[in-house]
Amino acid sequence: MKVPLLDLKLQYQSLKNELDTKMLEIAATQYFILGPEVEAMEREMAEFLHSKVAIGVSSGTDALLLALMGLDISPGDEVIVPTYSFFASAGVVSRLNAVPVFVDVDPVTFNIDPSKIEEKITEKTKAIIPVHLYGQSAEMDKIMSIAEKHNLFVIEDAAQAISTQYKDGSFVGSIGHIGCYSFFPSKNLGCFGDGGLVVTNDEALGEKLKIMRVHGGHPKYYHKMIGGNFRLDALQAGILRVKLPHLDDWSEQRRQNADLYNKLFIEAGLASDAGFIEFDDKNKVLLPKAVYKDSDHKNYHIYNQYIIRVEKRDEMREFLSGNGIGTEIYYPVPFHNQECFKNLESSKDNYPHSDFAAQHSIALPIYPELTEQQIGYVVEKVAEFYSKIG
Ligand SMILES: *Cc1c(COP(=O)(O)O)cnc(C)c1O
Repeated sequence: MKVPLLDLKLQYQSLKNELDTKMLEIAATQYFILGPEVEAMEREMAEFLHSKVAIGVSSGTDALLLALMGLDISPGDEVIVPTYSFFASAGVVSRLNAVPVFVDVDPVTFNIDPSKIEEKITEKTKAIIPVHLYGQSAEMDKIMSIAEKHNLFVIEDAAQAISTQYKDGSFVGSIGHIGCYSFFPSKNLGCFGDGGLVVTNDEALGEKLKIMRVHGGHPKYYHKMIGGNFRLDALQAGILRVKLPHLDDWSEQRRQNADLYNKLFIEAGLASDAGFIEFDDKNKVLLPKAVYKDSDHKNYHIYNQYIIRVEKRDEMREFLSGNGIGTEIYYPVPFHNQECFKNLESSKDNYPHSDFAAQHSIALPIYPELTEQQIGYVVEKVAEFYSKIG
């Protein structure tokens, strides 16, 4: 049996007529960049994400970069980021010659550990970038109260968490000052190329971000500020408008897939729903934990990735690959161990939970169209690997 990590063709097949029609319609207009299709997408997204302003941009990375620029993050300013995330979460800070300051993650959720933020705050600290990793909210109430106390901006990296709800039901991205999303094809809502979105509830800030999206000219060719080319294509916006109404169903299917994996791992004697932190005889596999699962809103976790932690991870990965199962490591190197960040002061600190995650995490296929048979097969092969090595 083949179980790829992700198979986007299945989703395309299910919406092919609508998507093809939309793409041809836009081709007929020959209106390619920003314009009415992008504006319509922005209105729909603002409503869906419970934010006042939504701004389509060129990628999730550019969404973060634009957010930092819009908040006037300047050379030498410090910005707090979890040390365990996709590179962009910290890379954008360095691109402005500001300084990323790393914080370890929580050992269960892999999100920034709020209890370790304050010790990293200095006079130069300007902002915190919590990342809602894998599709589950960071602890926003604690983060927001730290930010308020120290007068810091909060830029939410919600690239993996579009429509994720926090424990009180609010949508991630709309809790901090600015929220950033990515429409990279492998995200839960993907376009046919690069794309991203910035949201904010501050309308004046929203206006500024819109101007900075087009080089900062307002009116056109008159510059009080310097922005960039962060524009989104009409084609991408059109594709997103076709897909958006299906997002909640896809998230529900991802959650059901995750529940089935959890159940099968427990039945196979490889995991328990008690142990999430340490390996032992009953926990060869540490399952992901949806910490807000008992709340009454549905998108407590949208499983952009289903991540387990295992011993002998790299051998297991090879074994699964030999059996037709696609996996990935998100992420093998935390920021504090990246060559490009090695001279940063905060790279010298210890980050035991991030190091543990980097050594043991593995992503299993979780896309909505996965069948129960495929999930059963993946668990069977993981079990076979552990029975072999004892
Ligand atoms: C994907 C991702 C980004 C960047 O998005 P792009 O659209 O690929 O530029 C930023 N942060 C996180 C956590 C991501 O997963």
